[in-house]
Amino acid sequence: VNRIERLAAGLERPLLVSKGVNVTYLTGGFRSSNVALLVDPSGAATLYTDFRYAESARAVAGVEFVQTRRDVIGGLAELLAGRSVAVEAPHLSWAAVEALRAGGVEVAASAGLVEALRALKEPAEIEAIRAACALSDLVYGDLTEKRLDGRTEQEIAWFVERRFRERGADALAFPSIVASGVNGALPHASPQPVEIPAGTLVTVDMGCVVDGYCSDCTRTFATGPLPDRLTEAYAVCLQAQLDGLAAVRAGAPAAEVDAASRVAVAAAGLTDAYGHGLGHGVGQEVHEAPTMRPESEDVLAVGNVVSVEPGIYLPGLGGVRIEDLVVVTATGCDVLTGFGKLL
Ligand code: ZN
Ligand code: ZN
Repeated sequence: VNRIERLAAGLERPLLVSKGVNVTYLTGGFRSSNVALLVDPSGAATLYTDFRYAESARAVAGVEFVQTRRDVIGGLAELLAGRSVAVEAPHLSWAAVEALRAGGVEVAASAGLVEALRALKEPAEIEAIRAACALSDLVYGDLTEKRLDGRTEQEIAWFVERRFRERGADALAFPSIVASGVNGALPHASPQPVEIPAGTLVTVDMGCVVDGYCSDCTRTFATGPLPDRLTEAYAVCLQAQLDGLAAVRAGAPAAEVDAASRVAVAAAGLTDAYGHGLGHGVGQEVHEAPTMRPESEDVLAVGNVVSVEPGIYLPGLGGVRIEDLVVVTATGCDVLTGFGKLL
């Protein structure tokens, strides 16, 4: 059963898929910045895009192609007049919904249907993510051939970007984070033109894209002997990360896996220093379903690819985050990121 048929099987009315990455997924690789795919409960699907993408749209198997004007939604408001469709509420703008309604289309909200399919990776998808993770292991090896202190955060970020491309990555999955010293207390710090000091922690969070799929991995390095509080923070974060990994398995509520990673942190009195969720799904997007955080209602399933990434952030001192990417299995998980985690 192909992806469109799997989606169609759960539909009560036609679904207008307008998020580009969801269309790419359902069509097995078609990319357009201006696109919609109407999937009928019968399994029939119609692909709408403009002239610029028409040639490649015609080559997509298993869908009917209809060329629209540049304003795809405006075109659909006419083409679908009198019909009732569900739309992807988190991704379609208010203006687009109003345009569809003005044209006489009955619109109902839906959410997460394609994302739920995307969360269950097929073997080929897992292999692409595995390849992207293997490149990140290699780039961490390249990066740590030389000392980090004395180089700037921005130099490190550029080194990472260049090495990813030289080793065969198609692109970065996201702008690399290189956060040293007090910057390390900011979970999403952007690299600064400042020399990395000796005797502190440096958090490097990076990922690349291979065959359309992302990797995501964080390691934290020491640039010499550390203040005791940072040594302790690293040890606590590593324990939290190992506890999180040990809790991952199919059938586990994501909130419980998240909770497992907080036990060691609470015991160390650092609860408030770990202010984000344990992890997130990774695939064509670097953040996708499922999510592992205290309020998550997701339940892990075989074939999910999730990050496991607790962090401890100590304002004015520094921070640590350790992140692996794993495939969820029936009994646990298969860790895709292999670079060492000893400080
Ligand atoms: Zn990351
Ligand atoms: Zn991540």
